[in-house]
Parts: sequence; C-alpha cells; structure tokens
Amino acid sequence: MKGAVLYGPYDVRFEERADPAIVEPTDAIIRLSASCICGSDLWPYRGANPVKKPSPMGHEYCGIVEEVGRDVRTVKKGQFVIGSFFASDNSCPHCRHGYQTSCMQKTPVVGAQAPWLRVPLADGTLVATRDVPPASLIPNLLAVSDVLGTGWFAADAANVTKGSTVAVVGDGAVGLLAILSAKCMGAERIIAMSRHEARQRLAREYGATDVVTERGEEGAARIKELTKGVGADSVLECVGTQESMWQAIHATRPGGYVSYVGVPHGVQLDGAKLFYTHVHLHGGPAPVRRYLPDLIELVLDGTIEPGKVFDLTLPLDQVAEGYKAMDERRAIKTLLTT
Ligand SMILES: [Zn+2]
Ligand SMILES: [Zn+2]
Repeated sequence: MKGAVLYGPYDVRFEERADPAIVEPTDAIIRLSASCICGSDLWPYRGANPVKKPSPMGHEYCGIVEEVGRDVRTVKKGQFVIGSFFASDNSCPHCRHGYQTSCMQKTPVVGAQAPWLRVPLADGTLVATRDVPPASLIPNLLAVSDVLGTGWFAADAANVTKGSTVAVVGDGAVGLLAILSAKCMGAERIIAMSRHEARQRLAREYGATDVVTERGEEGAARIKELTKGVGADSVLECVGTQESMWQAIHATRPGGYVSYVGVPHGVQLDGAKLFYTHVHLHGGPAPVRRYLPDLIELVLDGTIEPGKVFDLTLPLDQVAEGYKAMDERRAIKTLLTT
C-alpha cells in the first residue's frame, strides 16, 4: 500500500510502505474509511520536533475491521470501529479511572494516513457501532477519534458545567470543538479567542457568544474586562505555547479551572507565579477512549456535527498539499479520502 511518510521539515512523501499485518495476537487490521491530518502533525512537519528517521504519519482513524488476531474477543471482522491515538487495554487501574492515554500498556497508533492500519490491543482500544454508518457520517465519526475527543476532554478537565463562563484559547480544530463541547455541557457564555474570520464563524456556529482577537496578556486582560474584572470559570488551552498557557491562566478567576490539551512546546511555569493565581490545572493527552461511546452516539443521533472542522478534502495521494494548506492556515483541517 501507499501512505504518508515524513522525512524532515516540510517533506511529506506519499510512498510505498509494507501492508500492515497482525503482529501481536491482540491486534486488529482495519481498512480506513477516511484519514486526516492533525494539528499536532504540524509540530514535526515544521521541524519543532526533530525527525530522526522517515516516519509514517497519521493517528486519527475509523474504518472496517478486516482481520483480528487470535486473542481478540469482542472486535469482529466487518464491524465499523473508531479508536484513539494511543492503544489501551481499557482494563488496568489507570484505564478504569478513565485515563486510557496513561494505560499501563499504552502503545501509540501510527501510520493512519494510509488505506490500512494495524491497531494494537484491539478489544480495549476500538469501539464498534451497531451498524456500518452511511458515508455521509464518516467526517463526523473521524473527528470523534481525536479532535472532538480532545476538545471534549478540554471542557471536562476545566470543569465546564451548566451556566459556566468559558474561554477557549486557540482556534484550531481542537479549540473549535472545545467550544462545541462546552456548549453541550451547558456553558452559558463561551468566549472564543480567534483572529481568523472563517474560524470565528464556525466558533459562533458551535456556540461561542463572544470573540476576542487580542492575544497573550492583552487577551487575558480582555477576558477580565468581559467578565467584570473576575475572569472566566473555565479556560481551555488548546495551543501549547508559553504565551497561550499564561494567557489561559491569567484569564481564569481565582478558584477557576484551566485545562491544557495542546502538546506543550517550550512551556515553563514559574511556581511562585502559579501559586498566587489560585487556579486548578488539569491536562495532558486526552483520554479519548473514555468518551468514545457517548460521542459516537451524539454523532449518530445527529446532535453534533464535529466534521465541519474539515474544510479541505483531498485524495490521500495529495497528502503533502494537505499539510501545506494547514501549515499556511489556508485550511483548518484536511480530510484525506482513502
Ligand atoms: Zn491528533
Ligand atoms: Zn490500561
């Protein structure tokens, strides 16, 4: 088969790779219904993470089970399944507490920008739907695999509840879906921090009540102003830089909650400065697996349409253009047809 391989900064190639095969008896092989590019793929693409060797890309996936290993019990050939970017057993103590991305057996799932994918720990990792969904629902279901699951965790970890005042830092796909998640959890006021018109439009469609264009300390000051000097109850940090992290912390009221789901790059927190903010901090790689069953239901019953973040669709062989469009912010998120 052919799939996406990153060789170095700005160098993604669509090239021949070995077909995935069962390696462990707990593996499954799935035929992907579609694939996509993640905001976090842009870190190595831009050279922010060194690429030591050619790396197969992609970690968001849904599709049809083609083959299972001999120890797989619940997942069956022919089922439509969704999983997340870390495989997990869903049975160890960390999984049972709902932190499957800290599973004692966690294994990254890589190489999903391709027609076929090997998923380890299939029974714990994959969630199957009752029926094979129609093609029209695939973008919405694919979004559940990472960006929606991550946005949902951002809202949950920041304790968003009915009536909350929420601010969202970051207008990438995760930030936009964090807005949708906060809305679903009953937030009354949702302040989106965005400078891009198309993204502001989708933010409002997903439930944002206000838009703030200022960034950094100015952005935090603007949130304070909009909340009568108090600060937001919950601030969802969906970027991962030093500036965005302090923007989030300083926009939060004392006793409020900051969640952070953007992979941190160069973030340093000064203990003494943090001490006097009185905020709760909770973040990390989103345990998407915890939320999959509920989020899949919300998509299947038509309550939410997270797939609207895909504003560019390309065939898989044009994956390099998909990266370029996202890097240049011409696209929020690229869907790749397999
Ligand atoms: Zn991702
Ligand atoms: Zn586990």
